[in-house]
Amino acid sequence: MTVAVIGGGIVGMSTAWSLRRRGEDVTVIESGSIGHSASGVNAGWITPSLSTPLASPGIVGLGVRHAFDPNGALSIRPRLDTDWIRWLWKFARASRPSAYESGVRALLELNTRTLDLFDEFHQDGVDFEMHSAGLLALARSADGLNWFTQLFDHLLPMGFPGSVEYLSGDEARERDPAVGAGVHAAAHTSIDRHVDPESLLRGLHKRITEMGVTVLQHTSVQSVAPGGARWSVRITDRSLDVDHVVVALGAATNALLAPLGVRLPIVGAKGYSIDVKGVGTPPRHALYLMEPKLGLSPYHDAIRIAGAFELPSRNERVPERRIRLLVDQVRHYLTEWGADVGSDIGAGKAGLRPATPDSLPFIGPVPGRRGLYIAAGHGMLGVTLAPATAEGIADMVTTGHIPESMLPFQLAGRT
Ligand SMILES: Cc1cc2nc3c(=O)[nH]c(=O)nc-3n(C[C@H](O)[C@H](O)[C@H](O)COP(=O)(O)OP(=O)(O)OC[C@H]3O[C@@H](n4cnc5c(N)ncnc54)[C@H](O)[C@@H]3O)c2cc1C
Repeated sequence: MTVAVIGGGIVGMSTAWSLRRRGEDVTVIESGSIGHSASGVNAGWITPSLSTPLASPGIVGLGVRHAFDPNGALSIRPRLDTDWIRWLWKFARASRPSAYESGVRALLELNTRTLDLFDEFHQDGVDFEMHSAGLLALARSADGLNWFTQLFDHLLPMGFPGSVEYLSGDEARERDPAVGAGVHAAAHTSIDRHVDPESLLRGLHKRITEMGVTVLQHTSVQSVAPGGARWSVRITDRSLDVDHVVVALGAATNALLAPLGVRLPIVGAKGYSIDVKGVGTPPRHALYLMEPKLGLSPYHDAIRIAGAFELPSRNERVPERRIRLLVDQVRHYLTEWGADVGSDIGAGKAGLRPATPDSLPFIGPVPGRRGLYIAAGHGMLGVTLAPATAEGIADMVTTGHIPESMLPFQLAGRT
């Protein structure tokens, strides 16, 4: 069978790998270059521990309090736009305890194979940088870990396979000498990992090309339309006729689907990152700075600082002020390591997370449109969930059936 995967972000590239392994004839179509989107800008965390919906009891009040703070970690901005108002209404509904609980269960189930699948990438010859020292959450205030402890108090009784170790500031400094004197308490999760997301995309690109997947870059899809029992995918100068289409366009998903009458509640949530060199002792772990909600990921050649969640966003503009703030906030946590950004502050990047109101991605067929599938809306968990998403889509495309674990991610009742 022929399959067009539209979108060469982490979801599209993983999906191409899974489909090709099942013997499908796959073409990936990407409007930019592989790695330029949110999938290349992120912190690269693979965090089953943090795979819980953003829409949680109490979140709406928090978002509104931050609404007018342009430097807030989470900002939910008022706007008179019916799609946005509908999204917010669904978000508020998804924050009810019962909806949150179902979301946590669905993500726990989806993550069952996540770590094994990242190992399978390696075993299959996908060359990328991955670290397994776990995540170290650092707090400067006595109650800075409250959110974290509540999370684990909730996850562990549900059968979450990971564990958490709580540390004093001194114990954290012993475990990771980069941690500064201002850190009061820490939590270490050993199940979590981090990857260099750009190296993962490069590795997947190389491997799927070797496997026989065609990857078209700088090729924008203008439309998809049914043509008999097949699909016609209109690209810049021609059309491709395929048996199946998988739309993996992240925050751009609606633009392509609207002419088919499909409108999903996906909005862009802008975040920023910058890669910096440093002086002193670099961190050994991926670090979560609790008060400003920033992530740090140490790689072989640089440290990536990432953060902010600005809802709703449509552009990828990078205000220098935002990048400076990322770098400045790190200083309070890592006195033994200092970012040496100098004039490179302009190297900061932005990406749009494809955010759904219930924080669950859409992974499945479009009802009434045989052969058309969606894999989009992964919010702040796109790297973590991409391999499991890809396997789910590949199962559905090849068997025509929706596995039980994929039922919470279907479109019905959520659009
Ligand atoms: C600052 C930041 C930090 C993050 N940290 C993490 C993290 O640590 N861990 C984690 O799991 N997730 C993280 N995320 C979230 C993660 O990056 C996203 O969920 C993920 O990248 C979404 O991937 P995607 O493939 O769905 O979409 P995208 O990466 O947006 O890919 C979609 C692709 O479609 C292409 N496209 C658009 N329109 C067309 C068209 N018409 N034709 C062809 N191609 C088109 C785009 O060019 C793009 O390359 C973070 C995000 C940000 C912004």
